[in-house]
Amino acid sequence: MDKVRVRFAPSPTGPLHIGGVRTALYNYLFARQHGGEFVFRIEDTDSNRFVPGAEEYIIESFKWLGIKFDEGVSFGGEYGPYRQSERKEIYKVYVDQLLRDGLAYVAFDTPEKLEAKRKEIPNFQYDATTRLSMDNSLVIGGEETARRIANGDKYVVRIKIEPGEDIVVNDIIRGEVHINSSIIDDKVLYKSADNLPTYHLANIVDDHMMHITHVIRGEEWLPSAPLHVLLYKYLGWSDTMPRFAHLPLLLKPDGNGKLSKRDGDRLGFPVFPLEWHDPKTGDVSSGYRESGYLPEAVINFLALLGWNPGTEQEIMSLDELVSLFRLERCSKSGAKFDFEKGKWFNHQYLQMADNRRIAEEMMKDITANGVVTDMAKVEQVVGFMKSRVSFIKELWPLCSFFWIAPTSYDEKAIQKRWKEETPRIMHELYDVMAAWDNYDDIEGSEAHVKAWCEQKGYPLGNVMNPFRLMLVGELKGPHMFEVTAVLGKEETLRRMETAFAALPK
Ligand code: GLU
Repeated sequence: MDKVRVRFAPSPTGPLHIGGVRTALYNYLFARQHGGEFVFRIEDTDSNRFVPGAEEYIIESFKWLGIKFDEGVSFGGEYGPYRQSERKEIYKVYVDQLLRDGLAYVAFDTPEKLEAKRKEIPNFQYDATTRLSMDNSLVIGGEETARRIANGDKYVVRIKIEPGEDIVVNDIIRGEVHINSSIIDDKVLYKSADNLPTYHLANIVDDHMMHITHVIRGEEWLPSAPLHVLLYKYLGWSDTMPRFAHLPLLLKPDGNGKLSKRDGDRLGFPVFPLEWHDPKTGDVSSGYRESGYLPEAVINFLALLGWNPGTEQEIMSLDELVSLFRLERCSKSGAKFDFEKGKWFNHQYLQMADNRRIAEEMMKDITANGVVTDMAKVEQVVGFMKSRVSFIKELWPLCSFFWIAPTSYDEKAIQKRWKEETPRIMHELYDVMAAWDNYDDIEGSEAHVKAWCEQKGYPLGNVMNPFRLMLVGELKGPHMFEVTAVLGKEETLRRMETAFAALPK
């Protein structure tokens, strides 16, 4: 078999949708596991839909996610240029070849003429049944066509589809898909107005010239596949035609239909990898990165939307995915976008992540709140608290008490836990804590205080709850002696003193 070469070929028409990220991921996994190559191509032949910044956005997204390309726009390679707008001359050669071979023709129909036809004929399609009633080279002949082109008349080149032919798309995921050519229209392949091919022609020419062996893309491109198979045939490239694999759609988390940006807005989750600032409207759309997702969690989550390893295993690193992924195991039916599962993955990956990495991120929130502290302490707090969160940004509100001493105390907690004898017991505890020095030793501290409680005959709850109230201000937080370990002796005693002054005597 030829060396596997796959490509991700977005059109820079806006931010990359999360479905596109999944397509790129599956291509990447497939390339890596076959020791193949992954090409990044920009399909920008539709200049009307070009959005500035989109290309840079896409590149940055993959950088963040750790999906690497071997060649393409911004990466170089021997089959460039990889931006279709820079390949005009290349396509023109094949447009001319198709015209010469009588497999395509020149059409001059104005938008008005096409509109009138659509009104006249229900479900109008430009094809074998209608083309002879239109304004094209098949009707007016070669000489007149040449004259009008020389005259500067605007034209398009359309593929000439023979009706009644059985076209077979051999899809790795879907098997053989048969389509009758009669339902396909004579698609436009080239427009003289901008001297550019349309998506269909450029896509096929580039896949051929870049030696692409497998076309792995979203299900929305399946309807175009029969035309692409025909184009390979018309261009004489059937023997080296890539294998197709059309991935299942991503569906709404609730109900039916394709996942859209509106679902994300409605249910509160991002549909883009990075935050996107629309250059025209100024609208800002949320991104996975800015929402606090770890890239490896996003990868793992997306990998399982439309594929599974055939076991119960859910947590898989990128390297594991490379070895476990099988294109044949992708599902045909759409994958529900379960964003709660995405949060679950983030929680799992936070638990596996290095505390230092999380601490560095959390430090930004700490600094933003005007607190100065050292990284070692933040790292320690992360270790104690990360099991309670799914996102790093949830840590600061949950942990601020480690740095900011309480200035008030929860009323309900006081009523419930601050009994008549409590001040006396807490003063005794103060002496115990003042005589103790091994605050860093969490188990030791606990054993020490517990032994004292036992000796005194104090029920543990009558000691620990008011102690917590004094240090935290309410009855929440991690293990009591994790709190004292982080606060240290000086701060623990200081908070107790403050509490004695503020709480009922
Ligand atoms: N330019 C197309 C897109 O935006 C590429 C489709 C394909 O992969 O053939 O997705």
